[in-house]
Amino acid sequence: MTEKLFYEDSYMQTFEADVLACERFDDNYKVELDKTAFFPEGGGQSGDRGFLNGIAVSDTWERDGIVYHIINQPISPGTRVSGEIDFKERFSKMQQHTGEHIISGIVCRRFGYNNVGFHLGSEVVTMDFDGGLNEDELSEIEFQANEIASSNRKVEISYPVKEDLIKMEYRSKIEIEGQVRIVTIPGVDVCACCAPHVKYTGEIGIIKIVDAQKYKGGTRVSMLCGFRALNDYRTKERNINQISVFLSAKPELAAEAVVRQKEELQLLKDRLIYFQGKYIEDKVDRTPAGEEEKAGMLLFEEDLDSNMMRKYVNLASAKTDGICGCFVGNDQNGYRYVLGSEKLDVRKISAQMNRDLEGKGGGKPVMVQGSVNGTKEQILEVIRRALSDF
Ligand SMILES: [Zn+2]
Repeated sequence: MTEKLFYEDSYMQTFEADVLACERFDDNYKVELDKTAFFPEGGGQSGDRGFLNGIAVSDTWERDGIVYHIINQPISPGTRVSGEIDFKERFSKMQQHTGEHIISGIVCRRFGYNNVGFHLGSEVVTMDFDGGLNEDELSEIEFQANEIASSNRKVEISYPVKEDLIKMEYRSKIEIEGQVRIVTIPGVDVCACCAPHVKYTGEIGIIKIVDAQKYKGGTRVSMLCGFRALNDYRTKERNINQISVFLSAKPELAAEAVVRQKEELQLLKDRLIYFQGKYIEDKVDRTPAGEEEKAGMLLFEEDLDSNMMRKYVNLASAKTDGICGCFVGNDQNGYRYVLGSEKLDVRKISAQMNRDLEGKGGGKPVMVQGSVNGTKEQILEVIRRALSDF
């Protein structure tokens, strides 16, 4: 069993230890020490990273009481090593983890919901509760959690004897062989937990709920504490400042400005549709129907809305029984199209274009749509040939 220095002092950043074993592990090596300050992966929290004699430790995990440190080059057993953990990351995890206990403690006491899933990696922290929480409730929980953090309560660690444990009320109460470690935040939470925590709740800094989703009949809450919350604030601040510059609106009025812009945009879209519609109607009016009965009306355009393409084909079909089609694009990049006819099965033409012009498309006998890679001339050629077969 590895001696776990993080239980003596969760703030220990450097330590000395002896290498007991070093074995190959996939492309890396796993190193066992007589003692360690690296907290291994477990209970939803990722393992600590850092250095052993200057060699990067990329992960830490535990099996049967032994902590394994993953490094990319071997260290001989018997070597005395100095270990250094990435304390910036570790302290961040301590902030998140104690913050999580506060939120889970409040949710458990006020709503009776359990934390049934927890993930603490290097980004956002998620907690899954087995009950629904609405926006107002989450807002209250967040506020209360921050009151508790700022009241700077001492986080108490204890190892009660079995007789006392049986009588105790605490979260994560399961039958555990051996010593159970209890983490108590006075007035908020008592929970069995083996992770390192901050000493005082004031060290957590701000506790910010950033997202909540319905999840497996309950709620998945995403949270950031301390420096992670600060970084999130900075990112959001940068964004809102840029948005407010683009909109020429004060940051606190940016949302209103977006609503106004959306309304204006909708108005412009409506106008565009109106004028495109007028343009299409005009095109149909001015185009004579095909001289022969089968040759109908074909329109080639650089740019046109899909709805307008269908509108053209519908209007043209009312005017002629021949083939009516609208092609949008250019000879370099190909064309999107809609083809229709009241009398002739236009699927034959789309099938022919699929074969000859790397087309993709199909539909019903009266209307097909798709795309082709050919030029205008090539498309017209396919249609001419198809017409002669009808
Ligand atoms: Zn915990």
